[in-house]
Amino acid sequence: MFNSIMIDKNEADGYRASVQKLGDAQLPDGDVTVQVLYSTLNYKDALAITGKGPVVRRFPMVPGIDLAGVVEQSDNPRYRAGDHVILNGWGVGETHWGGLAQKARVKGDWLVPLPAAIGPRRAMAIGTAGYTAMLCIMALQDHGVTPDKGSIVVTGAVGGVGSIAIALLSKLGYVVEAVTGRAHESDFLKLLGATVILPRDELTAVGKPLGKERWAGAIDVVGSQMLANVCAGMRYGGVVTACGLAGGMDFPATVAPFILRGVSLIGIDSVMCAYERRMRAWETLAAQLDMEKLDALSEEISLGQVLSVAPKMLQGQVRGRVVVDVNRH
Ligand code: NDP
Repeated sequence: MFNSIMIDKNEADGYRASVQKLGDAQLPDGDVTVQVLYSTLNYKDALAITGKGPVVRRFPMVPGIDLAGVVEQSDNPRYRAGDHVILNGWGVGETHWGGLAQKARVKGDWLVPLPAAIGPRRAMAIGTAGYTAMLCIMALQDHGVTPDKGSIVVTGAVGGVGSIAIALLSKLGYVVEAVTGRAHESDFLKLLGATVILPRDELTAVGKPLGKERWAGAIDVVGSQMLANVCAGMRYGGVVTACGLAGGMDFPATVAPFILRGVSLIGIDSVMCAYERRMRAWETLAAQLDMEKLDALSEEISLGQVLSVAPKMLQGQVRGRVVVDVNRH
């Protein structure tokens, strides 16, 4: 038997997440069985666990869009027992049982070999949030945003995607402007590498279709009015990467930045991202991310603590990244 978080929804109990014991026979179909060492808590996991967003598509569901572990058994030619692997996305924790458990059975094609330079705990400190931050930076680079082009604005800066994006961007030589609603975390953001701290309020009020030209690139995790204002504040030819909806799903913008300043808006999806691009992201993370900064921005909790930390994440009370030791109850 092994421990897992389990989400169920029924007439009697409504929507409920709890820690439960499961047996191997209950694991879903898949060609690789993984002993999970660490998982994480992402914004999407918090939505799934609290039921505040329609993340879970099938019940009962083991949440957890990320896992790092050791292959226990494999019928997939790419992996053998004893291999260290990571998994991010592919609907795990949404349509297929996920990583917030001591064991998972998945499709081997969803796995990525754990980069040798980072252990499983740090891989989960990075997790989907960090890998998505990397995908955003790769999109900026692929669209020609080099450090000499100007500064990069990062929204939701104290959160998981934001904090890792700042650490990576500063390592890569970019000047970073961090947008946060938590002014008291300014020292933390400067430690990660932010040069300028911008109050969230400045960018959440309804703004003009075009503002002052400020940034060459942007990583936005917030959406809604924040994303509209970020687009309006881009320099000529600037590139905005949009990956999140922490402030809302809507996008109350005008086309002005796109047709008058040649601004590009690039959507970033980590879930279905192709294997080669994932590998490029993870290899760059392993080579470039400052591990001391990663340790400074992450905290560890036990499997059982996930249930109380999830609502705090949605209330914006969690700083940086949360690693889950699934083998500690
Ligand atoms: P976190 O909860 O760690 O961080 C979100 C941050 O957004 C908060 O820390 C806060 O930053 C800011 N924020 C929260 N609420 C609001 C609000 N109402 N208005 C403005 N800012 C707000 O989440 P993650 O960093 O893990 O994820 C961020 C977003 O990115 C989520 O929407 C998530 O679903 C999405 N995401 C998308 C992925 C993809 O594949 N496209 C992959 C990973 C994440 P501060 O306190 O500094 O203001």
